[in-house]
Amino acid sequence: MTMERPSLYCSGELGRIFLDGVQEVIGGGDLHAILEKAGIWAAAGAVTRDEEDKPLSYEQFTALQQALEESYGSRAGHGIALRAGRSAYRYLLRQFTGQLGVTGLEYRLLPTPNRLHIGLQSLARTISNNWAGRVSVQETDSSWVWTLEDSPWSRQPAGDEPVCHFVAGMVQEFMAWVSGGRFYPVNECQPCEAAGCRIEISKQPID
Ligand SMILES: [Zn+2]
Repeated sequence: MTMERPSLYCSGELGRIFLDGVQEVIGGGDLHAILEKAGIWAAAGAVTRDEEDKPLSYEQFTALQQALEESYGSRAGHGIALRAGRSAYRYLLRQFTGQLGVTGLEYRLLPTPNRLHIGLQSLARTISNNWAGRVSVQETDSSWVWTLEDSPWSRQPAGDEPVCHFVAGMVQEFMAWVSGGRFYPVNECQPCEAAGCRIEISKQPID
């Protein structure tokens, strides 16, 4: 528990989407074990669907990531979080269709670069609306840069490794989904910074 700073939360819906993504990668039984290990069994309503979605605190979010790394090893734990983020995009799309606004005909008829640009802004806004921090998007000639102010990951003690894999995975899946399956390199921060996470998305797909 952080003593100096108050706990921040992400919405119950976004928490559930994250847990659904993790479940898709490791299976329900293992997810239960991870939730127990992370000490957030109370959040299991998100899995059993017996209860209303409960907001996840940033501490719970990071405890979950830690439990994945402890159970599967650091490298595999990171890989699971990235793949969980990719899986979670489809749940996000279903849950927040209206907010995302990327399924309408008008949007789908735009040229791909416009769809990517508008969609990334919209995805950032949807995530901003569902957790305590803000996500802003800047554009350079070669990339889009997401800055996640006060994200769960930027509040972790500084380490050598990036830990914002979940969001990086979600962005990567979004890019693939919009572009009909192309792969756009997405670089996470190295490591996550207290000032905020920085995720860089290349405008150039790898073919
Ligand atoms: Zn980060």
